[in-house]
Amino acid sequence: MPWLAGYPREKVNWGPTVDREKCIGCGMCMNCGKKVFQWVDGKPSVASFYDCQVGCNTCANLCPSGAISFPSLEELRELYKREGI
Ligand code: SF4
Ligand code: SF4
Repeated sequence: MPWLAGYPREKVNWGPTVDREKCIGCGMCMNCGKKVFQWVDGKPSVASFYDCQVGCNTCANLCPSGAISFPSLEELRELYKREGI
């Protein structure tokens, strides 16, 4: 059974935030296949927060300038424990 099957996605606080000041506009994060980002004025903008794959942080790992951050992983782990999902 996949993680979070049947659980409302909008109740899971997981998705990227982009610091446009730190972003150097390399475009690496646009490789995300989930279409979470939109390219706006030469930089990514989060267009679809809840389409981000829960638990994924690949774009943050790839970002050369540390411009992408995520909510607390602990919070996510607590949710899984609490809800038994
Ligand atoms: S964490 Fe993964 S799914 Fe979410 S926006 Fe980044 S690359 Fe896409
Ligand atoms: S990977 Fe980082 S630096 Fe590159 S465009 Fe995305 S947010 Fe900006």
